[in-house]
Amino acid sequence: MKIAIDGPAGAGKSTIARLVAKRLGLRYLDTGAMYRALTLAALERGVPCTDEEALLRVATSVDLEIVFDEETKGNRVYLDGQDVTDLIRRPEVNAYVSLVSSHKKVRDFIVALQKEIARRGCIVMDGRDIGTVVMPDADWKIFLHASVEERARRRLRELRRNGHDVDLQELAEQIRQRDHFDSTRAISPLRKAEDAVEVDTTHLNIEEVVARVLAIIKGEA
Ligand code: C5P
Repeated sequence: MKIAIDGPAGAGKSTIARLVAKRLGLRYLDTGAMYRALTLAALERGVPCTDEEALLRVATSVDLEIVFDEETKGNRVYLDGQDVTDLIRRPEVNAYVSLVSSHKKVRDFIVALQKEIARRGCIVMDGRDIGTVVMPDADWKIFLHASVEERARRRLRELRRNGHDVDLQELAEQIRQRDHFDSTRAISPLRKAEDAVEVDTTHLNIEEVVARVLAIIKGEA
């Protein structure tokens, strides 16, 4: 069973995908975490996020490991043996990840890793191009979205929980820019697969979205 969950930043993809995986007893992969880890590695090495060749060299030389937690279904991310699960959520990474992930050679490399993980069996994956590029053969494709204001409020809560002080308006602007960048880039832009079911999460809580997605998968919605 393969389930693809796509959508823009802050639509609730990772929370929902992880919980759906937990309910169905499947593995879960947060594909954004892979682009984030590469961005962090580039920033730490002083590699310009505009330099495609240098980014590819970073991608091919770092040891990027995703550890699947059977219990929580969460992903822990390791870069050269260091646990960077929290570091990859930092505002600096938010600011550069879309640029890093827009390069064709970077995407080809990361997408190949994701396809390999998909080949290993049943999984829920979330991202921007899962239903269109990584798992076009997925059994179910869900496209989650929500208003920019609501997505900014969610990111604000998440960042504050992790001790970062950020401004709501600034976050909303960053989200708008990231949406624009992700959906207008030449390679695998963010877009709903034709056969994906759309769920607007603006006025739904986490449980309601999970219930909606499970109902779609069970053919009840
Ligand atoms: O999902 P998350 O917000 O963590 O993803 C971070 C960024 O990584 C996105 O804004 C997007 O630029 C990129 N991304 C992507 N393709 C994916 C997942 C994430 O381009 N499958």
